[in-house]
Amino acid sequence: MSATRSRPLRVAVLGFHHESNTFAPVPATLERFLDGGLSEGVEMVRRYATSQATLAGFLELAASEAVECVPLVHADLNPMGTITEEAFEHLVGKLLGALSENGPWDVVLLALHGAAVAAHQPDADGEIISRVRRAVGPAVVLGAALDMHANISPKMVAGCDVLNAYLTNPHVDARARAREVADLAVAAARGSIKPKIALATPPLAIDILRQGTDDWPMRHLIALARRLSEQERILSISVAEGFPYADVEEMGMSFVAVTDDDPGLAEHIVAELAGEAWRLRDDFIGTGADVDEALLHAAASGARPVVLLDVGDNVGGGSPADSTHVLAAAQRLGIRNLFHSLCDPDAVRACRSSGVGSSITLQVGARTDALHGHPVTVTGRVRHLDDGRFEDAGVTHGGFRFFAAGDRALLETDDGHHILLTSRPMGNTSLAELTSVGLDPATLQVIVAKGVHSPRGAYQPIAAEMIQLNTGGCTTADLSSLRYHRRRTPMFPFEPSTAYEPRPHVG
Ligand SMILES: [Zn+2]
Repeated sequence: MSATRSRPLRVAVLGFHHESNTFAPVPATLERFLDGGLSEGVEMVRRYATSQATLAGFLELAASEAVECVPLVHADLNPMGTITEEAFEHLVGKLLGALSENGPWDVVLLALHGAAVAAHQPDADGEIISRVRRAVGPAVVLGAALDMHANISPKMVAGCDVLNAYLTNPHVDARARAREVADLAVAAARGSIKPKIALATPPLAIDILRQGTDDWPMRHLIALARRLSEQERILSISVAEGFPYADVEEMGMSFVAVTDDDPGLAEHIVAELAGEAWRLRDDFIGTGADVDEALLHAAASGARPVVLLDVGDNVGGGSPADSTHVLAAAQRLGIRNLFHSLCDPDAVRACRSSGVGSSITLQVGARTDALHGHPVTVTGRVRHLDDGRFEDAGVTHGGFRFFAAGDRALLETDDGHHILLTSRPMGNTSLAELTSVGLDPATLQVIVAKGVHSPRGAYQPIAAEMIQLNTGGCTTADLSSLRYHRRRTPMFPFEPSTAYEPRPHVG
């Protein structure tokens, strides 16, 4: 065999990365993807090779003389609503066009999220995998690396030779996990391993508040997966938490095992993991704090700042960053000294016309829909205006340094709040967001941060306390408040008496 392998293996690198919140009001259109989210060829290397992202792990293959690693196309967009048919077909057409123009290939590597939903293709990732498989034929080795929030479907697994997902949340191992897929795919193409994949999809949705891999019960499941990985013939094990905000059949937690030519072992491994997750299912239910109680507690606290996490408007999960549920409650309760950001380009424009130092009365927030509250009327003084660019060399979620919030206005209201109005949706993941508009986060009594895990990097070191709120919105922790039409039934925790018996498919 080695005699025939005189040429390097040709490896195509492609990506399509979107976490689609089907409850979110803003669709993922082609225009939004094309606004900076598409990269091709050397541009992919420039953007990603030195990052810690999935593509970086694939591109590490370029260092090997035995591999010709060819970056083709990568499409990426922030989490938001469902992908339009136009966007999906155009972008997937680009992927397939690049594959056929630059082939033939020995290996195709796909960087996917795993929770992409297109309007006409609910299992968008599965559809991409199966189209790529049809395009390259059965002999080419296909590897896919997914986000840990993937809703993994049988269609996704059926089209791949190798597939894995991150094992950390917050995600810090994307690059390493992608490198694992790349190495296994190359080994399979050389004939030194024969990957066999198994998937288990228990009818189980887990709450965003219970997804941290440093905390029980995820810590325990990941430790079990790592222990099982040490067995002979195990090539890779994944524990995918799933993305509960995608109303699709495959929504939920799932487990993937890849073995070297041992399908029975792969089935046993995923059945064991699924059984353990099922046993702990009650521990995966999350409950956020009541908004009024948390606000009253935070306002009366002797230590500051108290950071209230607006879980229902978690921008990293696809929400619009303009929810007013907490601000409206603070007004109603007479609570003062709140920092609160809102995406509201109209309000920013009104403040800009009014000018720094002027007084203004206007409505702010809840521009997208009533799920995120109603516009709140505030009166205050415009304290600061800028173009929304700021830099944070300190600790931030995902390691981001440069931020662009669009035009901003800081309003100090008559009832003592600081409301930061932005033109783009922004989660609150950086202390520099506040210092760049002249605020000292340490002196504020209550900071409302839109997010669940993402604000922690910045705020944990200075917060007297961090409280996760049970707020409404398209990323609410209260899954029972979301109206599903396409998920499986019965499913835990929606139907609490759901039964499940994890069983290997083969003996
Ligand atoms: Zn994720």
